[in-house]
Amino acid sequence: MVPSVVALLVLAWATVACGPPRQAPVQATAAPTVTPEVAAPRLTIQFLDVGQGDAILVTVDGRRLLVDGGPSRDRLHTRLQSLGIRDIDAVLVTNPDADHIRGLIEALAMFQVETFYSSASTNPSATYAELLAAVAMEAGIQVVTLVRGQFVPLGGVQLDVLHPLTISGDRNDDSLALKLTCENVTVLLMGDATTTSEESMLAVGLVPKADVVKAGHHGSRTSSGEPFVEALKPAYVIFSAARDSQYGHPHAEVVARYLAAGAQAVSTDSTPDDDTAVLTSDCQTYSVSGRAVGGAAVTPVPGGPAASATPAAAPSATTTLAAGG
Ligand SMILES: [Zn+2]
Repeated sequence: MVPSVVALLVLAWATVACGPPRQAPVQATAAPTVTPEVAAPRLTIQFLDVGQGDAILVTVDGRRLLVDGGPSRDRLHTRLQSLGIRDIDAVLVTNPDADHIRGLIEALAMFQVETFYSSASTNPSATYAELLAAVAMEAGIQVVTLVRGQFVPLGGVQLDVLHPLTISGDRNDDSLALKLTCENVTVLLMGDATTTSEESMLAVGLVPKADVVKAGHHGSRTSSGEPFVEALKPAYVIFSAARDSQYGHPHAEVVARYLAAGAQAVSTDSTPDDDTAVLTSDCQTYSVSGRAVGGAAVTPVPGGPAASATPAAAPSATTTLAAGG
């Protein structure tokens, strides 16, 4: 009987030592804490400073997706070179307008890209024809047309397609909107999606509470309606628009709407320097560095456990990417 008693004692000790089974981490309900440094990021999102346009480099577990390329081949080339990027696995077009696709032509020239994602939205422009020609020239590339309900796999996560379900013919309304979820961290990339797109998403419950949103259409008042912003309640909003944008982006009332909802407003181009904004995350916590609208460095969300900002000019993520690129 002694061995059984010993076994019971060992079992009893193990139960006390280990405690009750660990609860699964609470998803979505608790906002992730914000820290100035993420030691080992699984996720890095670089909202590149490309002037009046969008170019967002998403890296998860070493896999890279370039969401849009901005309005200039040269500018995208310079940005990727300065970050030490030596490969891109996939590219994605949210909107086939020049301010999103011209840089993608350069990315396809620079790298052997495996997958090209877009919606069914097209553009009669010469630039779009040039993009399609560049895709056709890419050996072995897979071309994937996305609609709501599908997803883009990247590393160990996926980007869910929230919009569009169908194509209306208005390229902004038809813009792809994506939700990236990495465990506790949720990021929305809205392309040029409009309030019409937002209403379509809201009607079917596809607007989650998010940590970070790349505002639709460069912060135009045709996007970021009040119901949408209220549903998101993001900690950070990123406005990808030129310094002194000829369209006045981001529009003041849109910035004010996000600020009123408790967000910090980050600009990708508020000074003559490279104002690329960077999110790094281990998928439990996250850090955002960059320039606020107006040019000051962004600060962590009040209540975050470690309150100090990372300067925009030297985000730690850049070093990580350069080393791994
Ligand atoms: Zn645009």
